Amino acid sequence: MKAFAYVNAATEKEAVAALGSERGKMLPLAGGMDLLALMKDYVAQPDRLVNVKSLDKSITKTPDGGLRIGAAVTLAALASHADASRLYPALVDAAAEVGTPQIRNVGTVGGNLNQRPRCWYFRNEEFACLKKGGARCFAVDGENQFHAIFGDGPCHIVHPSSLAVPAVALGARFRIVGPSGEREVQAGEYYQMPDRNLFGETVLAPNEILTHVILPAPGAVKNASYEVRYKQSHDWPLATASVALVMNGQTIRSARVVMGAVAPIPWRSEPAEAVLAGKRISEESAVAAADAALASAKPMAQNGYKVQIARAAVKRAIMKAGGLEVV
Ligand SMILES: Cc1cc2nc3c(=O)[nH]c(=O)nc-3n(C[C@H](O)[C@H](O)[C@H](O)COP(=O)(O)OP(=O)(O)OC[C@H]3O[C@@H](n4cnc5c(N)ncnc54)[C@H](O)[C@@H]3O)c2cc1C
Ligand code: SF4
Repeated sequence: MKAFAYVNAATEKEAVAALGSERGKMLPLAGGMDLLALMKDYVAQPDRLVNVKSLDKSITKTPDGGLRIGAAVTLAALASHADASRLYPALVDAAAEVGTPQIRNVGTVGGNLNQRPRCWYFRNEEFACLKKGGARCFAVDGENQFHAIFGDGPCHIVHPSSLAVPAVALGARFRIVGPSGEREVQAGEYYQMPDRNLFGETVLAPNEILTHVILPAPGAVKNASYEVRYKQSHDWPLATASVALVMNGQTIRSARVVMGAVAPIPWRSEPAEAVLAGKRISEESAVAAADAALASAKPMAQNGYKVQIARAAVKRAIMKAGGLEVV
């Protein structure tokens, strides 16, 4: 690992002051689960790490009945939080299924939402792919069984964060702090496709940090996540879905349907949402929405299997949100 300087930031202001405007040179460090692995592999080679674990690690109620989650909250703390479990099962179930207990005890909400892609060409220092400033995407003609089935490239990663998918479905806002103050963006606008941002995955500038995730009061919203994994072990899901269904009595007034591990960003499906609007939650409406969600998928040579898996995840997330037996 390349030698680096270390700054322990006690406040948001200190953290921002210790970061710089040059991409990759000074990086926030939370639990280090992802960042230290990238550094050991020489994929990340920062000159300075800025520890942000001392920043807000509380989960508090907002005046409107939602929750405000500090970026330094661990996944384990989120997964065991009583109010979060009651109001936002889509998010809490996703947190509870990340990795292993050890990973959840150390990994933070901010680190999880900002973790870098798992593409094995990206993670291997010997492949200078497009995302690392090279000339081509090796996944196009290479080993692409875990790559995207949506989006037109030029980079075909899937977004790795399990929390990002329910955050988008639940309409979360992300609070960001930088040199010119603070701002909030919708979770759905935080993540950027590779044609807009090839070298990063989010709207964050190099000298900005994510400080909080703010969840709106759920009101009459039923929400759930469903993940499909290769095996029930410590690995990222093959496909996930999170749904938030705004109910009017027994009828779905409007829906948010978001898939994970299928595209470079959490992939919202407006066709599936349109199918659900005005319907009751049933196996029939869930199947119709799932079919609509996958209708425009464009698998690569080795990942066609993901289409059916993602379809099942969408169907089961909708049924789970409705309290129906998942079959
Ligand atoms: C075996 C294994 C299995 C895993 N399975 C899953 C899974 O199923 N689902 C899943 O989602 N994840 C999974 N992970 C990933 C793991 O959850 C993340 O690596 C972890 O959550 C990262 O959190 P961290 O606090 O350690 O972040 P760090 O490693 O410290 O940081 C990660 C990245 O985020 C940046 N960062 C950190 N905090 C902030 C901040 N506040 N603002 C801006 N940028 C910030 C860092 O600069 C770095 O680039 C798995 C990891 C392992 C090792
Ligand atoms: S998918 Fe993206 S990260 Fe992976 S090889 Fe292609 S350009 Fe690189």
